[in-house]
Amino acid sequence: MLAVRYQYDRATMARSDFQTPPGTRDLTEPTSSRVRRLVALFAEEAERAGFGQIVPPMFEDVGVFVRLGESSDVVAKELYSFTDKGGRDLALRPEFTASVCRSFAQTRPLLPWKTWYSGPSFRYDKPQKGRYRQFDQVGAEVIGSDDPDLDTELIALAWRFFAKVGLRDVALSVNSLGDFADRPAYLDALGAYLRSNADALSEQSRATMATNPLRVLDSKRPQDAAVIAEAPILLDFLSESAAVAFERVTAGLKALGVPFQVAPRLVRGLDYYTRTTFEFAASGLDAAQNAVGGGGRYDGLVEALGGPPEPGIGFALGVDRTLLACDAEASFPAERRPIDVWVVSTTAGTEGIELVEALRNDGIRADRAYGGRSMKAQMKVADRSGASIALIMGEDEAAAGTVAVRMLRDGGGQEPIDRSRVLEKVRSLLP
Ligand code: AMP
Repeated sequence: MLAVRYQYDRATMARSDFQTPPGTRDLTEPTSSRVRRLVALFAEEAERAGFGQIVPPMFEDVGVFVRLGESSDVVAKELYSFTDKGGRDLALRPEFTASVCRSFAQTRPLLPWKTWYSGPSFRYDKPQKGRYRQFDQVGAEVIGSDDPDLDTELIALAWRFFAKVGLRDVALSVNSLGDFADRPAYLDALGAYLRSNADALSEQSRATMATNPLRVLDSKRPQDAAVIAEAPILLDFLSESAAVAFERVTAGLKALGVPFQVAPRLVRGLDYYTRTTFEFAASGLDAAQNAVGGGGRYDGLVEALGGPPEPGIGFALGVDRTLLACDAEASFPAERRPIDVWVVSTTAGTEGIELVEALRNDGIRADRAYGGRSMKAQMKVADRSGASIALIMGEDEAAAGTVAVRMLRDGGGQEPIDRSRVLEKVRSLLP
């Protein structure tokens, strides 16, 4: 029990004492049910493709995330890390992939392991529209196969999801980051190029250049754009096998009719990616926050987390941003589903509460007013509720064992029905 009990004075409660922390929001109707429908659509698509759900903990040993690469912003600057009362160093997840790989390394399920997820991730990001400190993601990961057809399938899964949601203006960019062995030669070339153009880069990118030149390509700062546009590209440094795999992926996308563009400077925010990387951008959103999803291969991550050297690939889609993109296109509208039946009861007995319970037990959406209000006041609430049917019980009906059924929408009349036949009657009236 809490040691302090707060006393609220109703008269002075006009202003709330607490607000949601910066970068967080309450999701209430209609957004909350849109989120739920969006997740349900994703679950349906993923399960149709053979994925099973994983619900990992929201926090992990901080090391799980640190192994994503200490030079990425997500780890270096944005991690919600803390020490718990047992002295463990933990962090709220900034994404799911690391947890999925940790789970794989811990439990060693059968291969290939295809798993999907949904839930909040946490990043100490600069809050703005489309960028939150707690945001929802849905995603899918496959561990245990390096077949490039799998890359195509995963991209197609995300694409199908966006199509089901009704989002039209989504652009898919794909790239290959090659294998880790391809990278040193490329990093040498990129580093040399960036150093020779350092004067034209932003101060932040000059600093990043020293620790991780690849990250400079991630910069969205306008000042860096011209230098990045001319930078050497990884596609010119791919090994034979990585190049063949990438060709297979792009051929697969063409065969499936998934439109894409090759974006040779797409590197994405984390260091663990190898080979195929991809990103979905919604044109209805501001450029800095227009990524509605992304993913790629991470052929070394499971091993880095202490597991066997199994390859993996996955993607995560931003639920909040997907909904914002839908708003911009007027797609995936909120569904207004008012209650079907409003029970109006002024009897002294328990008839009202019994009837509401019987309706709900029968699967009918029903509600009522509280506080023993007058017939007139309750009818007003019934009218406002959007319900199509009112079931009315005054003392007369109670005495006669009946219920008055009134159609609320089209000025319909009122009809007394024997109480034993009410459910049957309501069912016949509802669509
Ligand atoms: P990432 O792992 O950064 O590629 O994230 C995958 C997706 O999650 C992004 O494409 C965004 O749609 C979404 N996302 C990432 N960070 C945020 C954030 N701070 N607020 C809202 N959505 C985010």
